[in-house]
Amino acid sequence: MPRGIDPTHDPRLSSWVPSANQPSADFPIQNLPYGVFSTGGGGPRVGVAIGDRVLDLHGLAEDGPLADVGEAVSRACRAPFLNDVMALGPESWGRLRRRLSALLSDGSDPSLVERRLVPLADVALHLPARIGDYTDFYASIYHATNVGRLFRPESPLLPNYKWVPIGYHGRASSVLVGGEPVRRPLGQRRPPDAEVPVFGASRMLDYEVELGAFVGPGNELGVPVPAGEAEEHLFGVCLLNDWSARDIQAWEYQPLGPFLAKSFATTVSPWIVTMDALAPFRGPTFAREAADPAPLPHLGDGVDPLRGGIDVVLEAYLHTQKMRVQGLDPVRLSRVRTLDLYWTLSQLIAHHTSNGCNLRPGDLMGSGTVSGPSRDSLGSLLEITRRGQEPLDLPSGETRVFLEDGDEVILRGYCEREGFRRIGLGACRGRVLASVSLRRGSRASHRAGDPTTP
Ligand code: MN
Repeated sequence: MPRGIDPTHDPRLSSWVPSANQPSADFPIQNLPYGVFSTGGGGPRVGVAIGDRVLDLHGLAEDGPLADVGEAVSRACRAPFLNDVMALGPESWGRLRRRLSALLSDGSDPSLVERRLVPLADVALHLPARIGDYTDFYASIYHATNVGRLFRPESPLLPNYKWVPIGYHGRASSVLVGGEPVRRPLGQRRPPDAEVPVFGASRMLDYEVELGAFVGPGNELGVPVPAGEAEEHLFGVCLLNDWSARDIQAWEYQPLGPFLAKSFATTVSPWIVTMDALAPFRGPTFAREAADPAPLPHLGDGVDPLRGGIDVVLEAYLHTQKMRVQGLDPVRLSRVRTLDLYWTLSQLIAHHTSNGCNLRPGDLMGSGTVSGPSRDSLGSLLEITRRGQEPLDLPSGETRVFLEDGDEVILRGYCEREGFRRIGLGACRGRVLASVSLRRGSRASHRAGDPTTP
């Protein structure tokens, strides 16, 4: 079941870290998201973001203020990645959250933790976990319908969609943390009307706005997780950009699904907002049409119809090289809501494990591109430009159908609800670099508009 609301969510709670109390702050004391950071010279450490600071949990565990949350929790906080914290489970997560909330609240003694606060501006952020496996789903019925319509106008949605959560096994080795550049992939594509494919730089590079989720304790091989218990295996969520090369994808995807069109890069945001922090922002599961099938028992039993969904607003912004030179702000391309997903995260966990497949602490799952019913709630350029047929005008005077070298995609996310403090997921950035050359001394195939070309 979804976690409950407790005093750590009280909107009146404030912190003695002043930047955490600004109304627009992503990381107020009600949030307390986890990440992994390092400072000059030091190795990676687990931390919690508060305002414009990072609280060094490794240092705090050494100093003693975490002693009363238990030795296992304290030890997990001293690892150089979050997998051990993720493995602890909801009871320990709740205890650690309440302790951190108390330590950072107005009225508590700052001297206990002040020396373990580091300005966010002074740290490098790393992947939050050692990701053993990464699975990406296709949980937005609006996205599935929009994409299906481009290829099969008469029957956009395949007959399995409302029965079975569709997914594919992604590539964990190429998951990047926000801020790392993304190299345009080379690949095989078949130009329109051509008989044979060519090999070269992708010309249809796209972003996908997704909600990522990190797995908690996980399950033993052969033992499925019931849908009603799936929340216990969810540690928290992040922003996820599933970079996609649409031309490579169109040529390679049948019959086994995406492969090299997506395995070259996936970017996640550095901060993980816990399921505990999301408690005030739960909402109903997708309202299925009367004619839609009810979920089969392994996807329906124990799912809370009123709080099974999560209400996160996700936004995608584009900042081109020319916009940066002209001093223009990034332009928003997408604004979507995760309450529009057809399947909940619990249903995705239950389905993933329903055949006995084991999930492990630190495994990453993507919701799939989140799109909504309206024209301004489309989570990819594929949908916005209708596969390149309707170019997008930018404030710099440029147009785009897909991403060009030098373009930066910035995802942002936040939760807002009357009576509660707004919390944010921070940002997830990635700038596109030109392809590497195919051979030393020879350029990758030329693309129109390449800013590195004189
Ligand atoms: Mn995807």
